[in-house]
Amino acid sequence: MSKRRTAVVTGGGSGIGRAIAHRLASDGFAVAILDLNNEAAETTAEEITQNGNEAVAFGGVDISDRAQVNAAVDKVRATLGPVLVLVNNAGLTAMDAFLKISDDLWDRVMAVNLGGTFYCTQAVLPDMVEAKWGRIVNISSSSTHSGQPFQTHYVAAKSAVVGLTKSLALEFGPKGITVNTIPPGFVDTPMLRASEEKGLLAGSVEDHAKLTPVRRAGRPEDIAAACSFLVSDEAGYITGQIIGVNGGRNT
Ligand code: NAP
Repeated sequence: MSKRRTAVVTGGGSGIGRAIAHRLASDGFAVAILDLNNEAAETTAEEITQNGNEAVAFGGVDISDRAQVNAAVDKVRATLGPVLVLVNNAGLTAMDAFLKISDDLWDRVMAVNLGGTFYCTQAVLPDMVEAKWGRIVNISSSSTHSGQPFQTHYVAAKSAVVGLTKSLALEFGPKGITVNTIPPGFVDTPMLRASEEKGLLAGSVEDHAKLTPVRRAGRPEDIAAACSFLVSDEAGYITGQIIGVNGGRNT
């Protein structure tokens, strides 16, 4: 069993989650990568171990299914020890006219973005309570600052993640556990490029980068750097906060 602190990163196979997994592993955490995409999770874990750091893939896990989450977290504990850091990153984006959103789609967007965060957090919190130390970072979205047309389902789910973060921080602060949210804005990942390809961005990624105050799109590593600080010992006085990483697009 690892003597390092163990961090679970959901959606760690791709984009922002992949960068967070790499960063936390290089910070010295043993990283468990939970992802629906088995191959992507395995690839990230292999890259990390090839760099001399510690990571194990737990692929094929749908965070919207409580039984799958609990089974995966049990395996993480058995392999890497108790989970003291959780990054709830896996998410499902969607873009639909409000009047066209079906009940099934609404439920799926809620189930992954909000339900998955709920299930993963309940699964790992007992380890943090036992250790009297824990760090949770929820990846929400900059769209929660501003709203976003055609994303009512997604923005509603991500806004609920912000509320969950604030309330959880108050409940678990006395137990040594901090809970914060990073709402990323316009980060160049496979999710963003898929939206661009489908013509959903009203322009290219490069067009939007020109309108961003820092004049570039976000990089997954930008989010990973903020996350690295929030899960550190030094960040123990920061909890219940919304730490925007968005190139100045939202303030
Ligand atoms: P990404 O490149 O699509 O990566 C997301 C990863 O999560 C993928 O490996 C995906 O697997 C996995 N995943 C999706 N649904 C899952 C589920 N139900 N259970 C387990 N794993 C699941 O996305 P990203 O751009 O890095 O986004 C990461 C997070 O940041 C998301 O929560 C997203 O909403 C948020 N965010 C991103 C941006 C941005 O500009 N990129 C902006 C605001 C917020 P599959 O490939 O199999 O689907």
